[in-house]
Amino acid sequence: MSPEQFYPIYLKSQKVTIDSRKVSENDVFFAFSGDNFDAATVALKAVEDGALAVIVENQKFEDHDKNIFYVDSTLEFLQDLAVFHRSQLSIPIIGLTGSNGKTTSKELIHAVLSQKYNVQYTQGNLNNHIGVPLTVLSIKSEHQMAVIEMGANHQKEIEFLCQIAKPNIGYITNFGKAHLEGFGGFEGVIKGKSELYDYIKENNQTVLVNENDPIQIEKTAECNLKITFGKPDSDYYFTPFNEEHFVGLKYQNTHLLTKLTGDYNFTNVCAAASLGLHFGVDIKEIKTALEDYTPTNMRSQIVKKDWKTLVLDTYNANPSSMTASLHNFKTFEGSKTIIIGDMLELGEESEKEHQAILNLAEELGFDEIFTVGNQFKKINNFSLSFLSTQDLIEYLKNNKIMSDNILLKGSRGIALEKSIDFL
Ligand code: ATP
Ligand code: MG
Repeated sequence: MSPEQFYPIYLKSQKVTIDSRKVSENDVFFAFSGDNFDAATVALKAVEDGALAVIVENQKFEDHDKNIFYVDSTLEFLQDLAVFHRSQLSIPIIGLTGSNGKTTSKELIHAVLSQKYNVQYTQGNLNNHIGVPLTVLSIKSEHQMAVIEMGANHQKEIEFLCQIAKPNIGYITNFGKAHLEGFGGFEGVIKGKSELYDYIKENNQTVLVNENDPIQIEKTAECNLKITFGKPDSDYYFTPFNEEHFVGLKYQNTHLLTKLTGDYNFTNVCAAASLGLHFGVDIKEIKTALEDYTPTNMRSQIVKKDWKTLVLDTYNANPSSMTASLHNFKTFEGSKTIIIGDMLELGEESEKEHQAILNLAEELGFDEIFTVGNQFKKINNFSLSFLSTQDLIEYLKNNKIMSDNILLKGSRGIALEKSIDFL
């Protein structure tokens, strides 16, 4: 079966899902469980739950009476169907990648553009070879635009995802030290992420460029169509201000104050505002959207607890975002404790990068420094270090942190957020 043959059924469906627990009436369900007995059970259950069609990769389970269809590979079929669907769409699609700030930028861009348009966007962090096709397939005829997050941890991945999402506007949030292992160092990150610019160039589409980032300027030099921000002579220029750790920006006579902290969020907000202005959203509406946006997703989220201010940045961490986070936290008034967790997936550079962060933390002079994870533990011989978040929790049960401000930042695998109740 080809994607074209299946397309009429897809068009009649409510949604596409790969999660058997989320199948509802009129969905198309892709069974990813492969060859085993499980796949048959799951497929039949999806039919019972009202699925319009089920895609399986074991011929034994094919049953056209029940609308169970066999394909060689469910993953490839999902991707091919997304490519075909994309070819039928004529709406602008904004494709985002970068080392840090993709999800935040995506949410902000969506918030701004939704003031004027019906915008589809990546749910949560579904940004890989499965998430991107699912996002493309979630675009319906009523949508006027889409914002798609593309993640990568090795070369050629963004190139591949661009072939599915076919972005009309491309934006790389930043080039940072993330997934160094898979990309082969920082140069590798630049090359890998820039596959988005290559796509844009080859297809004569538009890039969004932050002109404060020399790498972005260099790598987009050959792109013909640009929307720029960051400098006084850019297409859009915003001046920053801060109020109580929150990022604010001024544009002509409009002042807007967000609920986001960290200088890096100024960039994210500027990107969203620029796209808003580019697509004709009124600055008053941009202000409403950006002022209302509240992060609830452990990405630089500020929480008040008793007299304390907690900065929860436990969603993930790498050397760039950790550095930015420490500098930002340093500006908070009052006593400060940092609890930093290991930065995972750094490969050979891991020890060096952890050492650099410890040095920076010491240099910035926080009142207390706690580390969590074995990477930090190996090299930390001057402050309290714990092997795991559970060990930290055991400590916190008997020892209260009295600081006015506490920063929690570490990789997803360290799950520092589990300690929040004990702070
Ligand atoms: P992932 O790779 O997990 O999808 P992401 O790129 O989507 O991550 P976010 O989830 O938006 O990134 O943000 C993660 C963290 O990165 C934030 O909490 C913040 O510490 C940092 N960060 C956000 N924006 C930027 C930016 N523009 N530059 C540098 N660091 C940033
Ligand atoms: Mg993300």
